[in-house]
Amino acid sequence: MAEVVLNGVGKVYADGTRAVESLDLAVAHGEFLVLVGPSGCGKTTALRMVAGLEDVSEGTISIGDRVVNQVPSRDRDVAMVFQSYALYPHLNVRDNIGFGLRLRKLPKAEIRRRVDEAARTLGLEEHLARKPRQLSGGQRQRVAMGRAIVREPQAFLMDEPLSNLDAKLRVQMRAQIARLTRELGVTTLYVTHDQVEAMTLGDRVAVMRKGVLQQVAPPQELYDHPVNLFVAGFIGSPAMNLLTGRLEQAEDGGLTVHLGGQHLAVPAELLDRRPALRAYADRQVIVGIRPEDLYDAADESGEPPAGTLLRADADLVESMGSEVHVHVRLDVPPAVTDDVRELAEDAGAADQVPDPGTAQTEVVARFGPRTR
Ligand code: ATP
Repeated sequence: MAEVVLNGVGKVYADGTRAVESLDLAVAHGEFLVLVGPSGCGKTTALRMVAGLEDVSEGTISIGDRVVNQVPSRDRDVAMVFQSYALYPHLNVRDNIGFGLRLRKLPKAEIRRRVDEAARTLGLEEHLARKPRQLSGGQRQRVAMGRAIVREPQAFLMDEPLSNLDAKLRVQMRAQIARLTRELGVTTLYVTHDQVEAMTLGDRVAVMRKGVLQQVAPPQELYDHPVNLFVAGFIGSPAMNLLTGRLEQAEDGGLTVHLGGQHLAVPAELLDRRPALRAYADRQVIVGIRPEDLYDAADESGEPPAGTLLRADADLVESMGSEVHVHVRLDVPPAVTDDVRELAEDAGAADQVPDPGTAQTEVVARFGPRTR
């Protein structure tokens, strides 16, 4: 087990594509770090450079206490798990798991011991004699994990290992990977474009965009305190609502934000955390509100209490069973920035980017989980 450190790492492909820009990232001893970002942001390239499958154009990569830039992949002592499990179809499960150990010419008894142990950990004991084609997707994925575990590497490198599984299996395997890596305490660098995977698996999550690291932080901090609009919009589902407003100094010394004809007080703790916000008084700002931070303030008589925050009528109500999404329209122009456009394009929803010239913004509120 070892620390993995990237220091000013850059990658320029032969055709001139700059895939990774000056990346500084340290995966601590035994830490599970997730690299997440939209398609093409350079996360796979970063991982492949750590694995030694891609040359480093700038900077250094260290594993443990040695710089590995010039060390061939097979001598880096890292184990990769890919999206395609890359199992040998003609070998049974036992031989697939033990393949790397046979290459390293370990004694037969030692190979058997390690394979048996991995099979036990992964619940594959009954399948050791089967060929990959006789296994389900989830079982194949576990064989690929087994092959990584038996090598007892300094670090695991995983590239979208769950993306070929159906939704239910993905959730199961996600939990299994979390348990397994915690048990083994092995340093792990994990690449995904799925923010839920990133948030649930990572001790810390690093968000990349266009080859540039945006923020690296524990999941909750990333969610509560994104450093920019891109991170704010990328993490969270339904996505954070982004509205154009105007900040104004309130009589009590606080700040209010004007959204159309309505006012919203800027919470004191936000001002304490970001005192620089005061400099934006009398200026246009983008207001981000998480869907779960909006709630129905009406009391049982249907009347909103004094000091109502925002008034809006429900436009559409979607019930997910345990929670309800309520869409409302506010009379403020939508915030349309390059970040918003890029995030929508990545989600395949470029046509849903609102027209910045419109006077209304659709806002989503999330109620629940349901209390009984
Ligand atoms: P995805 O989630 O789609 O796999 P990614 O974030 O892992 O995306 P990379 O695969 O690292 O992104 O690619 C980063 C950028 O480098 C992209 O613009 C991609 O087109 C480009 N790229 C990747 N491989 C090569 C290559 N061999 N030659 C030239 N450009 C490449």
